[in-house]
Amino acid sequence: MKIAIIGTGYVGLTTGACFAYLGHEVVCVDVDESKIAQLRAGESPIFEPHLDELIALCDGRLSFTTDYAEAIPGADAAFIAVGTPPLPDGNADLSYVDSAAESLGAHWDGGFLTVVNKSTVPIGSASRVETIVREAYGRQDGGAGGGELHVASNPEFLREGLAIHDSIYPDRVVIGVDDPRSAEVLHAVYQPILDQTFVPPPSVPRPEGLSAVPLVATDVASAELIKYASNGFLALKISFINEVGNLAERVGADIADVARGVGLDARIGPRFLRAGIGWGGSCYAKDTAALMAMAEEHGLEIPIIDSARAVNRRQRELVIEKLSEALGGLQGRRIGLLGLSFKPDTDDLRDAPSIEIANRLISAGAEVRLHDPIAMDRFRAEQRELAEFLCASPDEVAPGCDALVLVTEWRDYLALDWQRLAREMRRPLLFDGRHALDAATLAEAGFRYLSPTTPVSSLDAGRADGLTAAR
Ligand code: NAD
Repeated sequence: MKIAIIGTGYVGLTTGACFAYLGHEVVCVDVDESKIAQLRAGESPIFEPHLDELIALCDGRLSFTTDYAEAIPGADAAFIAVGTPPLPDGNADLSYVDSAAESLGAHWDGGFLTVVNKSTVPIGSASRVETIVREAYGRQDGGAGGGELHVASNPEFLREGLAIHDSIYPDRVVIGVDDPRSAEVLHAVYQPILDQTFVPPPSVPRPEGLSAVPLVATDVASAELIKYASNGFLALKISFINEVGNLAERVGADIADVARGVGLDARIGPRFLRAGIGWGGSCYAKDTAALMAMAEEHGLEIPIIDSARAVNRRQRELVIEKLSEALGGLQGRRIGLLGLSFKPDTDDLRDAPSIEIANRLISAGAEVRLHDPIAMDRFRAEQRELAEFLCASPDEVAPGCDALVLVTEWRDYLALDWQRLAREMRRPLLFDGRHALDAATLAEAGFRYLSPTTPVSSLDAGRADGLTAAR
């Protein structure tokens, strides 16, 4: 199949590389000239494990351009994978999708084309895209408006950090399409994934026992809703365990054991049940907001999603409140944040809790020290006012700190020389925002351990050994 991918971000680039690896001819188009220049030079503009290797395995089937004329004419399918950030009212900003559809129509040759919305877009977006493409095409062919075009929905569920794995070994492929010929095109595009007929890339082996991937073939509106409902549910699961975590703290229960006991129920499942400082990233906040905005447009409320969002906001506040309580105020305290990306194995900083926490600490009069193993270059470029607080290593973060906060559970942080870090700090307090560290090991290293589910009162012993005196 000849495929055009519009947008070479986390989704578009991964999808393009995977399709090309599977044997399709793929042209990726992006309006960002610097991204395309980087890609043409063989560099990936994003950090995503194994993506560079996969691109290198594509044997000339993957190319990059800023020119739609090199991507669209003759394509069997054109996937739109541009951003859909939130508008202030919660609705998805469709301006990038509209502009991609406009450029697509202006370069379409009128041959049979399946346009695929891979971007997360509100219900009804397929017909919106079709109208824009047809109008743009009409302007180019003098208003004749001919040509066979269908717009399908193929939502994406990949997780950054595991994007290649999730793209070639997905839990399911969802395709919403109203035309049989377009359904055939999309089936041909996904056949190697659905039937698992490809040779796995060496660094991303096929999960044992996987021989086929379920296909959910449905109408366009259902496919569009599946994406929002999935993200809504995942957000809910995170906030649910955080609610239970807060209760666990009050009643003296161990949230890790509670989550394990709950998650072993096959109806519930163990994933997304780790209590902590809540979700971040480009999707959950915006997709839950869009879900609510869509419901409102149709005269409905979704209070359960509203609550999940409120809980998530509160989890971030909890970090500030607990640190303030533990340190007797934040004015003049020095706090080191370990981890800036919204989760490990990505350099994505969109809605990363680190940014809000750093800003709130600074507003409360604290000094911050920041580190991330991978995302510091992006952080420097996107968060200029915080860039001066970046440190080259955790060893540079710790000296003189009153507390360290594990914000992102990067593997690099799980086995730090905690004893050395504790010695360098003014007060060895560690706030484990992700319940990723072993409290006993930290205690042995000299740390006093705090987490979203441990009460500050558990530090009372620590106050006696110097915290109060040091205030
Ligand atoms: P991104 O911001 O990383 O990438 C978007 C790309 O589109 C950018 O490179 C931008 O330059 C390009 N672009 C913008 N307008 C363009 C145009 N008119 N023509 C060509 N290129 C254009 O975004 P992303 O994270 O890849 O997300 C893309 C979509 O996929 C969003 O709707 C998102 O909600 C959805 N999604 C994202 C993830 C994720 O984990 N990132 C997962 C599932 C779904």
